[in-house]
Amino acid sequence: MSAAVERSDAVLNEFDEAWFASRAQPGVQRLRAYDPGHDLVGFRKRLGEANLVELGSNENPYGPSPAAREAILDQLHMLHRYPDPLGADLKRALTARHGVDTAQILLGNGSHELLMQLAQVFAGAGDEVVFSRYGFAVFALATQAAGADLRIVEALPRDHATMPRGHDLEALAAAITAKTKLVYLANPNNPTGSWFGRAAFQAFMARVPDEVIVVMDEAYAEMADADDVATALPLLAAHPNLVLTRTFSKAYGLAGLRVGYLIGAPGLVAVMERLRESFNVNGPALAACEAVLGDVSHLQWACARNSEQRAALTTALTARGLRVYPSQTNFVLVEFGARTAQVEADLVARGVVLRPMGGYGLSDCLRITVGTAEENRRLLAALDAVLA
Ligand SMILES: *Cc1c(COP(=O)(O)O)cnc(C)c1O
Repeated sequence: MSAAVERSDAVLNEFDEAWFASRAQPGVQRLRAYDPGHDLVGFRKRLGEANLVELGSNENPYGPSPAAREAILDQLHMLHRYPDPLGADLKRALTARHGVDTAQILLGNGSHELLMQLAQVFAGAGDEVVFSRYGFAVFALATQAAGADLRIVEALPRDHATMPRGHDLEALAAAITAKTKLVYLANPNNPTGSWFGRAAFQAFMARVPDEVIVVMDEAYAEMADADDVATALPLLAAHPNLVLTRTFSKAYGLAGLRVGYLIGAPGLVAVMERLRESFNVNGPALAACEAVLGDVSHLQWACARNSEQRAALTTALTARGLRVYPSQTNFVLVEFGARTAQVEADLVARGVVLRPMGGYGLSDCLRITVGTAEENRRLLAALDAVLA
């Protein structure tokens, strides 16, 4: 017995990650796992939740509508049953919200899952997937996992007058070739907070061939309030190759439940269905999402608080001589220059967790989630101590 155990340790050392990676398909060989940032579970255990200011993951600090809790409690007697594989009730609530057909909606275990599956379905070896530099990290992950090639398009320049490092829609359209199968856009985008307007997007779509699928990630759409930012929803009818993703993780405050959805042509949804795990969204999550859709006033309240606090935080950080990128989301990207890593580490030591941006090639920036007034006050106090 003990000989077998010793031998298995040695064997496990030999057959390590590098060995298994060499067996993986080429796309996965080049892949690195998604970086979720800091070990928040560990921090919570060590420091206690009350001593932490968690501003690293763009969660809604106000939490979901109280209707979510009630809906989940109502589900507890059903935990031994599989959930509705179609998620029909939630889809019906979504069709009412967005004015689309049930057949145009696909539910996902977070929109992350849907973004991954879109590449898996529509791109493979030898194909190209186009997206912007500083586009959402999952776009690259999805492309590589599918074994397709990345075609990363330069973003607008850092010193752009209105949209530093935002998507350059003209350059993105120009990058489309016969090899392009998929384009990923985010409006507004994470981590830049940048956005584009409907006229610019319409001009972009006019240049995209029907054969190329355009994925518009609208994870922050509910929070956008500028005049010139608009959902692509009304363009779906004119462009069957356009598909939108949304999430319950951000404005709705349900990141812990993992639910996102996609809206697109019924034919596209039908093909995506072939790959979907049969029970990919769990029962309590389906019920809670349906419930929060019924509480529009909570959503509007949380979004209004966010807009207010985003403006206040932007003003406060700017007053400290920091460069804050314009944002239509619940976070801001902020330049800290050469001292970024030190500032970040010093803030963590004080229990304030932000998101480092090295993975995006923005190691001189930190991404700061807009918290409650109290959280932002604690952030600014810690920052003043750190910068002093
Ligand atoms: C947070 C986020 C998502 C949402 O991911 P979920 O898997 O739905 O939690 C998607 N896209 C962007 C750009 C995001 O920032």
